[in-house]
Amino acid sequence: MVTTLLLDRDGVLIRRLGHAYTLADIVPLPGVVEGLKQLGHMKIFVVSNQSGVGRGKTTIEEVQSCNNRLMEVLQSQGITITDIVFCPHHPDENCDCRKPKIGMWKELERRHGLTSDECVMVGDHDVDVLFGQAVGCKTILVGDEETSVEPTWKIASLSELPALLASAV
Ligand SMILES: [Mg+2]
Ligand SMILES: [Zn+2]
Repeated sequence: MVTTLLLDRDGVLIRRLGHAYTLADIVPLPGVVEGLKQLGHMKIFVVSNQSGVGRGKTTIEEVQSCNNRLMEVLQSQGITITDIVFCPHHPDENCDCRKPKIGMWKELERRHGLTSDECVMVGDHDVDVLFGQAVGCKTILVGDEETSVEPTWKIASLSELPALLASAV
């Protein structure tokens, strides 16, 4: 039974902007609050590549304050994000945490005792689908990005998530 959402951040919860965000950019995309509000029984985690740090476009501290703002904004709507993990590395660093590698999953497993069969991964790119597949969970692609890998399901926005999870999982 799926009880846990693993959500990508950029392009899923907030708009995709590139490598640097300010607090003013932390505005939930249409459908996010509506969808997640109905999923109060699920645990929510965010798993995000933030290579802007490794590229010198932003800093760990800036990413953390944006993540904190995101948690506050959603909490003010009654939506709790339990934890956010992110990879700050440049792709060339070949780290173990940049999606589609599963270092961030290992971290969540360690911190929260998650198991893959309780999770579904929701993202807007190939790497998110590949990450979810490598973790061993079902995958949902949000938006209209063309991908080379097939997710388990596709939706246009998170507003469709409650109905999908109610019927399909
Ligand atoms: Mg994304
Ligand atoms: Zn990394």
